[in-house]
Parts: sequence; C-alpha cells; structure tokens
Amino acid sequence: MIASDLRSGVERLGDMIAEAKTIVPFTGAGISTECGIPDFRSPGGIWTRYRPIEFGEFVASQDARDESWRRRFAMEEIFAAARPGRGHRALASLYRAGKIPAVITQNIDNLHQASGFAAEHVIELHGNTTYARCIGCGQAYQLDWVKRRFIEDGAPNCTVCDEPVKTATISFGQMMPEEEMQRATALSRACDLFIAIGSSLVVWPAAGFPMMAKNAGARLVIINREPTEQDDIADLVIRHDIGETLGPFVGN
Ligand code: NAD
Repeated sequence: MIASDLRSGVERLGDMIAEAKTIVPFTGAGISTECGIPDFRSPGGIWTRYRPIEFGEFVASQDARDESWRRRFAMEEIFAAARPGRGHRALASLYRAGKIPAVITQNIDNLHQASGFAAEHVIELHGNTTYARCIGCGQAYQLDWVKRRFIEDGAPNCTVCDEPVKTATISFGQMMPEEEMQRATALSRACDLFIAIGSSLVVWPAAGFPMMAKNAGARLVIINREPTEQDDIADLVIRHDIGETLGPFVGN
C-alpha cells in the first residue's frame, strides 16, 4: 500500500512501530543524502560522474588503484564533515529503546555508529570507507597514513605482506563478507517489522533482505522518494523524504 501523503504515512508507520517487537532497519545511500553525501543513482549522484572501479581492475592495475585513491581523497572533506541526519537519529532512538537489535546497512559512511549504535550492532554489507585494509592479509590502516604514502609514492602497499591497500569497502566483483551476510539473514528472518530506507534495492545480494524478511512473515515498509523494484510486495510504501518521514521518531 502506498501512503497517500506524508502525514498518513508517518501515522501508519508509527502504529506499525508501536505494534512491533523486533524492528530491523535496512539502510541505503538515501539516508545520508541530507548529511551531504551524494547517493549513486539520483541525478547528480556519484555514478552520473564516475564509472565504478571493479575489484579485478583494482587488483590488476596500478592506474586503477591510483584513480580509486584519488576519488576517495576527493571525497574526504564530505565524509569528514558528515554528521548523522534525522533518519540515523530516529533509528538510534529506537535502538536505545530496545526495539531495534541492530541495523543492516549498505552504507560505508560510518554514520550509524556516529549516531549511537554500538559498532557490533551495525552490520555493514559493503564495508566502511573511513579506514583501509590490505587486500592480502587484512591489516587495517588509517586513511591519514594511506594519504601520506600516496602523496610520497603512489597508492600504497601493505607493510606486512606488500599487497595493495584499499578502502575497507566491498567493490563490485569482490566477495561479500560472510559473517555479515549470515547475521543479516538471521535478523531478517527473526524480525516482525523490516524497514528499507533510502535504497533503490537494485544492488544484489543486499537487495534480497527485504524480500527475505517478508517471506519469513515480517511486515515490510519501504521509505524512498522514488519507486523501488520491491514496492509491490511492501505492506507500506512511503514515497517521501527520509528526514521528514523519520524526523518525528527522533527521541531523547
Ligand atoms: P542508490 O543510490 O542506488 O539509491 C538511493 C535511493 O535513495 C534512491 O532511490 C533515491 O531516490 C533515494 N533517496 C536519496 N535521498 C533521499 C531522501 N532524502 N529521501 C528519500 N529517498 C532518498 O543507493 P543504494 O541502494 O544504497 O545502493 C548504492 C550502493 O552505493 C550501496 O551499496 C552503498 O554501498 C553505496 N553508497 C553508499 C553511500 C554512503 O555510504 N552514504 C553513498 C553512495 C553509495
């Protein structure tokens, strides 16, 4: 059912939240656009400007690694300045109230942690861009260190095993993180309300979780200003701005 207007959508969502025992939110880039981080697919989004660099290219080509770090450093001010928005803060309020055990996110911006979720309760399906890891041994690195090395000698290699270092994100063509996929599966199957927020629901396998929750018996709510491919299976679709929709649920 598509909410006829914002007010009736918020009211219906409020009832569903009150009735639910276990709510699992699933977030995409749309929850962070009001924080100044562009999404991928909206007009002006990242992909209207850049072709993504696949994992295989990153591994095979120094040029691809250099380009990937140039892009990351070009975004640094935006990521560093971003603060949690109303959507993040509303979810953090419901988390503190014990309604939300953990959030599943496709985002890589660390804003759920910044809003008050404990790191172990943020299931990052696509990793995190606020630090880096060696693609060989997994050693973690601060971005400041990477940037210094990048300026001095190009995209850096690991000091332990000499393999390339990459932002701690999951690129196209890279294996999904096994533990996170298992935890997201268990949460999707166990909740009674699943809320997909700000995702075009086209990136798989992540986009499989709303349907999984619905098939396991949960109510499904989709909040996104554009239609998504799963609107027809949702119990409630709110096609409005996320900050305006979730703002009323920001608590103390
Ligand atoms: P997407 O760009 O495919 O979809 C975002 C959706 O959010 C769009 O349908 C758009 O209409 C909607 N939207 C944007 N702002 C909104 C707002 N204020 N209110 C309501 N709706 C809004 O993003 P996706 O589905 O998350 O998939 C893209 C992939 O890109 C993800 O896997 C993620 O890893 C990555 N990504 C992450 C970030 C981030 O961490 N903030 C930013 C860009 C891309």
